[in-house]
Amino acid sequence: MAERDAAGAGGIEAERGSDSPDSDSDSENGGASGESEMDFLRNLLSRTLGLGRKKPEKVLDELTLDGVSRFMQSEKCRNVVCIVGAGISTSAGIPDFRSPGTGLYANLQSYNLPYPEAIFEINYFKQHPEPFFALARELYPGQFKPTVCHYFIRLLKEKGLLLRCYTQNIDTLERVAGLGQEDLVEAHGTFFTSHCLGSSCKKQYTLDWMKEKIFSTVTPKCDKCQSLVKPDIVFFGESLPPRFFTLMQSDFQKVDLLIIMGTSLQVQPFASLVSRVPTNTPRLLINKEKTGQSDPFMSLMGLSTGMDFDSEKAYRDVAWLGECDEGCTALADLLGWKNELEELVKKEHSAIDAKSGQAGEAGASPSPPRAGATASLSTPPAKPGSSTQKESDAGSKVE
Ligand SMILES: [Zn+2]
Repeated sequence: MAERDAAGAGGIEAERGSDSPDSDSDSENGGASGESEMDFLRNLLSRTLGLGRKKPEKVLDELTLDGVSRFMQSEKCRNVVCIVGAGISTSAGIPDFRSPGTGLYANLQSYNLPYPEAIFEINYFKQHPEPFFALARELYPGQFKPTVCHYFIRLLKEKGLLLRCYTQNIDTLERVAGLGQEDLVEAHGTFFTSHCLGSSCKKQYTLDWMKEKIFSTVTPKCDKCQSLVKPDIVFFGESLPPRFFTLMQSDFQKVDLLIIMGTSLQVQPFASLVSRVPTNTPRLLINKEKTGQSDPFMSLMGLSTGMDFDSEKAYRDVAWLGECDEGCTALADLLGWKNELEELVKKEHSAIDAKSGQAGEAGASPSPPRAGATASLSTPPAKPGSSTQKESDAGSKVE
């Protein structure tokens, strides 16, 4: 969602430790700067030394979910990193903004945007925040109920295996599922908190505060300084959180197993994370379709260490194709965690139901997974009186 910046380019640079033996290093001197230099050298060395001689050490005894589960139960697997995207939240009824078919971009016509993407651009938002908040109201989930997949990640944490979960999602479901801030890198930000855009103020606001503004159709303005308040999601034109780049440096050096779920790995620099792991680290993809494989053109250029599930050179990548919840259940079963996972989901879901039952009067009535984006429109909390704030013009001085 955000633009590529310098550190992002470092991620790309790390991809260049390619497994394509026909590439040479002629074009690679340009980007080996700063912290990516070590990655670059390490990758270059491992490639040069490994050329046509020995394959990287094979860590999995077979390239299947069973092989992964046996590895996970061995002493060698201590640090698991998860990379997750929209696909892990779709079964919670949260639409994937980018998927064709959600009708998102078709619905934007009524907002008089200069072009559809403007709605997520920070500069446009500062001038014209209304379309974004109207869309947020339209797409606001009727309920925040994490999926089996989210709770599987929580189990990884409870078993002491989770080093970090890198998420592209802004829906806060990882937090609702019980992951702590230290477990998470919310690479595209989160709706969980919001901040005043006034540069000398920056007051923080909660999700409840923001929700109330969104549903009362009041453009959220700071109580203190009347500047615009923006959810902490990363807009186009904004950098990814610094935490993404700092933790990426350390996490991806010590990861023993990478689990990629529900993402098509299309958005940089997030997508380049898969190629940052050590060459022996197994990578498990749980997704509806295969993704992250080498782009033939990029391979020709010697620029990619995409995943390899099927070639005769495949040695560490496993694809489990299907819904994320089913993949996690299958893996939990092999690990002997299936009952525990099911109990956890049952317990947590009934707690959420009980809570939203109590809050039902306030308009947070439980809704089934939404077939259309308009389902949540049926329960806007009534906020008579607060619309007077809309008349205030003081907040228009946004930098
Ligand atoms: Zn403020």
